[in-house]
Amino acid sequence: MTIDKSKPVMVSGATGYVAGWLVKKLLEEGFTVHAAVRNPDKKEKTQHLDRIASESSGSIKYFKADLMQDGSYAEAMKDCELVFHTASPFISNVDDPQKQLIDPALNGTKNVLEQANQTPSVKRVVLTSSCAAIYTDASECANLPGGQLTEEVWNTTSSLSYQPYYYSKTVAEKEAWKIVSAQDRWDLITINPSFVLGPFLNPGATTSESFNILKQMGDGTFKSGAPKLGVGVVDVRDLADIHFNAGFTPNAEGRHIASGHNTNFYEMAMILNEKFGQDYPLPKKAAPKWLVWLLGPMLDKTLTRRFVSNNVNHEWKADNSKSIQSLNANYRPLQETMHDAFQVLVDSGALDKK
Ligand code: NAP
Repeated sequence: MTIDKSKPVMVSGATGYVAGWLVKKLLEEGFTVHAAVRNPDKKEKTQHLDRIASESSGSIKYFKADLMQDGSYAEAMKDCELVFHTASPFISNVDDPQKQLIDPALNGTKNVLEQANQTPSVKRVVLTSSCAAIYTDASECANLPGGQLTEEVWNTTSSLSYQPYYYSKTVAEKEAWKIVSAQDRWDLITINPSFVLGPFLNPGATTSESFNILKQMGDGTFKSGAPKLGVGVVDVRDLADIHFNAGFTPNAEGRHIASGHNTNFYEMAMILNEKFGQDYPLPKKAAPKWLVWLLGPMLDKTLTRRFVSNNVNHEWKADNSKSIQSLNANYRPLQETMHDAFQVLVDSGALDKK
């Protein structure tokens, strides 16, 4: 599918952490970005995008749209050949997972993709899915061929009551593949990132769980030790390039794991210690699994005993070769990602020195 680069490109959830870097890339490449956002008048949510636009050859136009309001993406999508659908809540501490996670993820995907059906100009939709649509617990890796996650694998273990964010991403991506298969005017590419880190473009107003988790590492929450909790990490800047290439690589198809590094929270904390350990109460050692199992649920309600059992001291591994071969993914060193992300937290005053 070849995209006419003179046409506007829509980005849902343009105020988000991941979307911000994609919008930046599009603006720098001279595109007209149709930014579909919940609150176009909230300057604190869009100021960074306005600044970037003013320094770029591209331009940005805001459109008011909500995942829960059917038809609300019509204006933003008009005349676009390419649509990036990134909007979806990434939050862990929820009281009502159905309302706060599943409904916006699933109805939002239906809403945006049904709008693609109604918009004759649309040729391609790039959906920001997640590795969460592939797995729930790091322990699952060991049972897979080669001990690693691939694009063939689907998450079958999350539910409304266990890791509902993972469930929201799974049902949303499944729905997307169902909707695209019912027509043949536009195609669908999914990007399935692991845990995203790297600099925050708007640290004062970010809602992404990526920010909260990194902050917890630096604010002393895990001072007594970081769990060896297996995860993958991808840099937000590399992820923006992967999304961009997914839009403009004519023969791209299917799902793409976007993950630069197989790692764990202890290893990530040790990398931060190299540069910031003197000044901030970073974890200095690995927390024993039994201790995390025992105290985790009291520290953070998302650290349930089942989650700790299935993720701490389990190796996380994913095959990122398709993203490299098909979308020219280029993954920078983990050290650069960790240091640059933490530096933004420091500069923004989000952390107190020890
Ligand atoms: P984020 O900064 O919180 O971005 C979420 C975006 O979704 C925001 O722009 C938010 O708009 C929008 N949104 C939420 N509910 C909405 C609604 N009802 N109507 C319209 N927009 C709504 O989080 P992020 O980390 O960038 O996540 C962006 C995407 O990447 C999500 O699809 C997430 O699942 C995916 N992802 C993230 C990671 C990660 O580690 N960060 C990993 C894998 C996949 P407001 O600004 O108005 O709140």
